[in-house]
Amino acid sequence: MINLETPKKFRPLIGQAHQVAMNLLRPNSRKYDQREHEYPKELDMLAAMIDGLSDSGASNGAGAAGVRRSEEEQAAAAAKDEGRTKNGANLASVLSIMEMCWGDVGLLLSMPRQGLGNSAIASVANDEQAERFKGVWASMAITEPGTGSDSANIQTTAVLDGDEYVLDGEKIFVTAGDRCDAVVVWATLDKSLGRAAIKSFVVPKGTPGMRVERLEHKLGIRASDTATIIFDGCRVPKENLLGSPEVDVKQGFAGAMATFDNTRPLVAAMALGCARASLELTKELLEGAGVEIDYDRPALGQSAAAATFLQLESDWEAAYLLTLQAAWKADNREPNSLEASMAKAKAGRVGSDITLRCVELAGSIGYGEHELLEKWARDSKILDIFEGTQQIQQLIVARRLLGLSSAELK
Ligand SMILES: Cc1cc2nc3c(=O)[nH]c(=O)nc-3n(C[C@H](O)[C@H](O)[C@H](O)COP(=O)(O)OP(=O)(O)OC[C@H]3O[C@@H](n4cnc5c(N)ncnc54)[C@H](O)[C@@H]3O)c2cc1C
Repeated sequence: MINLETPKKFRPLIGQAHQVAMNLLRPNSRKYDQREHEYPKELDMLAAMIDGLSDSGASNGAGAAGVRRSEEEQAAAAAKDEGRTKNGANLASVLSIMEMCWGDVGLLLSMPRQGLGNSAIASVANDEQAERFKGVWASMAITEPGTGSDSANIQTTAVLDGDEYVLDGEKIFVTAGDRCDAVVVWATLDKSLGRAAIKSFVVPKGTPGMRVERLEHKLGIRASDTATIIFDGCRVPKENLLGSPEVDVKQGFAGAMATFDNTRPLVAAMALGCARASLELTKELLEGAGVEIDYDRPALGQSAAAATFLQLESDWEAAYLLTLQAAWKADNREPNSLEASMAKAKAGRVGSDITLRCVELAGSIGYGEHELLEKWARDSKILDIFEGTQQIQQLIVARRLLGLSSAELK
């Protein structure tokens, strides 16, 4: 049975993440929102601290760097054999990321060595690769000018030439694409073989033939850099292909998609952290203005502001529980694709709704720059877009529930 209390062993980790969010991320939140593209140098110290925690084993999966699937599977199998369930690194990551995003989502996304490419490496790299790419800050490059939601349509090519793959193509909207040490690039080995031929490659920054073309100006998460990267005859050692080079038409996209089962709950957690920040501040403002919020009376019998607030909190709670469930299932080696998409869909949507409604509830205070409510509303939107949009998550959920393939339900 799932236990909904925060596991005791994670409380110190959550407490630490909260301290960092309160003392380092929140105070720098507005500064780097206004200074888009300037590197938040305060994060270097924090990254060193997280590295120290990881080396000592004390972090237990804190941060977005992802969870090494093979190690987690062994631990989950051992727990199962003993008739126990396990609260592991997936749950720890979700809970600590939520705290950090209570501080600032853009700054969390700029944390050195905590990129979404790190999650991909953790999910699919073999032992030798995991060791070789340890400590590397990796971004994830899937999206192309003609390929967003339909990631099976990747046009970037990887051609084996001797002991190297030659990459050609254009990747857009790469989070941390300028600041990272390496990019995990999705490319096809053979377009005629469809999605099964799509593989991911680790390309270290500075590799000849790879260049950052431009940085985006954005609505939200302005502390995070978002890059367009061109690959033009870019050669990487063939050992940089993550996972197996075999094209298994029967397995299709499963290997590549496994990454998302790990990362979608993390993005859901980002939305929850940001939304909780909005709810907490809004509650303070409402109560300061004399609005009474009574948890013992039906919402509709209270003032419109209180009823709205209670509705938003219950939406948040539902998304929170779905996110915990998705992470907990991953920790216990249970298939979680359905739950990961449900969590991402619910948290992405209610995150945007909540932060925008909080702006509304706080009136001019919500809209002005004196408080962070308007910023949180801007920051939330992306969490309903990247790692699979709202509509795509709903499509995945529908396919899973109805037992239909991607060809049968588009
Ligand atoms: C700030 C930012 C950071 C990003 N970071 C990264 C990153 O690090 N790495 C990376 O690879 N990508 C990244 N992305 C790209 C992001 O993942 C894509 O924007 C997203 O996948 C959607 O793709 P698209 O923009 O091409 O939209 P499209 O796929 O063209 O979709 C447009 C609209 O149509 C809807 N739609 C599409 N297909 C269907 C369908 N079958 N049924 C119903 N509705 C549908 C979508 O939900 C969306 O609302 C980032 C984007 C942004 C804005």
